[in-house]
Amino acid sequence: MKFHVLTLFPEIPRAFFESSIMAKAVDKGIIAYDLVNIRDFALDKHNTCDDSPYGGGAGMVMMTEPLVRALESVGVRSKKIGGKKTTGKSKKRVIYVTPSGKTLTQKLSYELSREEELIFICGRYEGIDQRVIDSYVDTEISIGDYVLSSGEVAATVIIDAVYRLIEGVITAESLQEESFSDGLLEYPQYTRPEVFNGIKVPDVLLSGHHENIRKWRLKKRLEKTLMVRPELITECRKNGTLTTEAEKMIEQILFSGD
Ligand code: SAM
Repeated sequence: MKFHVLTLFPEIPRAFFESSIMAKAVDKGIIAYDLVNIRDFALDKHNTCDDSPYGGGAGMVMMTEPLVRALESVGVRSKKIGGKKTTGKSKKRVIYVTPSGKTLTQKLSYELSREEELIFICGRYEGIDQRVIDSYVDTEISIGDYVLSSGEVAATVIIDAVYRLIEGVITAESLQEESFSDGLLEYPQYTRPEVFNGIKVPDVLLSGHHENIRKWRLKKRLEKTLMVRPELITECRKNGTLTTEAEKMIEQILFSGD
């Protein structure tokens, strides 16, 4: 998988690509990346990349020309010219990170992890010209209902959610029971010491009894999900992913207070 990040501030995502598990995945050749500085594609000697919005209003808008030249430098071609669709399919999926996109989920992260190349456009100021979105962008993604000052952090969040799902980056087992993998939140985790701040690790986790540990963990996942994200349980029911065992536990939790 290759990530291209088109940005006015390459130093922000660079730290991520050069650290920890991502750096190892790059070393192993599982992940490749390039950071494209949009300013390098500006047309004037001041490297200007923003201009005032048509219609007036606060702030600036990222100019079309430097951004389009940056996109074309990584092999992206316009999907439309003069409002008409062009031919030729690209294997590169272009993502614009924006508060007005669809919200990132684990499901969408899995979908993106199956792509060969992802190209991220990081916005600044009031964002980018709508015609660039119409002509070049395949998917608009938001990382949540709030506004950041720029797209670099949002793009990095999406890249982080996606790359760890690619085979060979982390162990498949680690992905199995984590939050959202099957629609539920994760169970609580403990490590040494056995007693911390007067609180003991639950006995079941010290018992070595795998079946009891599995049941305890499932119950804790259901309790947590019911408490903080009940809509996820409704979603699981709709998708048919709640087992009879889980439904019985929910009944127990809700009606016996156990
Ligand atoms: N005028 C825009 C609006 O009201 O939707 C906000 C622009 S914001 C100050 C600048 C850039 O930050 C955006 O173009 C986008 O790339 C990025 N950004 C801000 N919040 C975001 C979010 N929640 N998800 C993804 N990207 C975001």
